[in-house]
Amino acid sequence: MADPSSYCTAVTQGYGGALHQHYHDTVYGFPVTDDNALFGRLLLEINQAGLSWDTVLNKAESIKAAYADFDIATVAAFTETDIERLLQNPGIIRMRKKIEAAIYNANQCLELQKTHGSFGAWIDAQHPQKEEDWVQLFKQKFKFTGKEITKEFLMGTGYIKGAHDPACPVYTTVLDAQPKWLEE
Ligand SMILES: [Zn+2]
Repeated sequence: MADPSSYCTAVTQGYGGALHQHYHDTVYGFPVTDDNALFGRLLLEINQAGLSWDTVLNKAESIKAAYADFDIATVAAFTETDIERLLQNPGIIRMRKKIEAAIYNANQCLELQKTHGSFGAWIDAQHPQKEEDWVQLFKQKFKFTGKEITKEFLMGTGYIKGAHDPACPVYTTVLDAQPKWLEE
């Protein structure tokens, strides 16, 4: 979703069917507080790199199952055997660098849980800051988190604004859920 406002328009006009409708109406831009869910969202954004969001949404459930329901501690302990297992799984994005990034990032999340109480609390503690500073921070902390991935992750989880077009019917529902960017 390079252009969120056009994503809103496309989805409300029926683009992508039920899968996109569900994601757009109930997930995209809504705040996420559970650490494993946050980690899962970052993992999905990373897996989108170079591919369409459609591909990732279609595979989202298989990706979640393959990555232990996005359980941070479990993924952090993945070994070379797990990497080989994932590389054989046609239901996911089979790219070694993305798999290794997931494991590395899970370990980084574990560290943040130790130092800040939770991954979410760490993000909260950095908030608010400029987009380019978020990008730098994520580059230092995680693997495979470039500008677009960091931005989409933060937008998709309500940390920075811009997920929905103000004219989108879901915009006010998102506001009711009090995304973090409202505090800026
Ligand atoms: Zn929308």
